[in-house]
Amino acid sequence: MRFPLILALILTFLRADDMPIQTTVSYGPVQFTAVKNGESNRRYIWLHGDEKTAEMALKYHIKHYRGTAFFIHSDDRIVLADGLKLDPNRIFSTKGTQKTLLKYHPEVSKNKKKEIVEALDKERETFLEQLLSPKGSLVVALHNNFRGYSIDSEIENAVTYSVKPGQRRQDFFLCTDQADYEILSKSPYNVVLQSNDDELDDGSLSRFMGRKGVRYVNIEVKLGWLSQQKKMLKYLENNLP
Ligand SMILES: [Zn+2]
Repeated sequence: MRFPLILALILTFLRADDMPIQTTVSYGPVQFTAVKNGESNRRYIWLHGDEKTAEMALKYHIKHYRGTAFFIHSDDRIVLADGLKLDPNRIFSTKGTQKTLLKYHPEVSKNKKKEIVEALDKERETFLEQLLSPKGSLVVALHNNFRGYSIDSEIENAVTYSVKPGQRRQDFFLCTDQADYEILSKSPYNVVLQSNDDELDDGSLSRFMGRKGVRYVNIEVKLGWLSQQKKMLKYLENNLP
């Protein structure tokens, strides 16, 4: 009876678990495509639409490794909410959202801005639930820099850091968890452990994750250096639990 065996094999290959599933996830006015490639504790996120190297690295990675990857719907650094500009990496606290709106729109009335702030406040926890795995997650954000941002920008507010010989200072891991830091500090790459101090909140995802006690790593790489970002992703994949 070979037929049932063949059928079983075909069914194994067709398991929904093995095929990437795409859904749309919203956080207030901000939308993401979530690509799920099987089960794992990895949750990847690409937040700045102009950081194309990070997008390419993540698209490659989620094809080859398990987890869920969130891609923002934007080709630009900013997103629009009710016609107003927002930095999507400054909307993870009330204070941060107010500040980013003020930066781009000092002329707009407080009431109009208040509506956007409240919409994001209302949906923040729901978005967090959609982002995280119920069994515990490692959230990995991918960013690129091109205007002088480097590990030196983070060192003064860090708990500790490790700079490696031969590594560009624009390329580094930034993490929120001490145990992850211990592992990453043994890597060939630069790494900084963020101080999860509320005083330093700027509405970024890394501060939000720090406040929530979620394991989070940002892989920050100079724009254009795709192979470096892929290598750092692979290192993280193979070495963090
Ligand atoms: Zn960025």
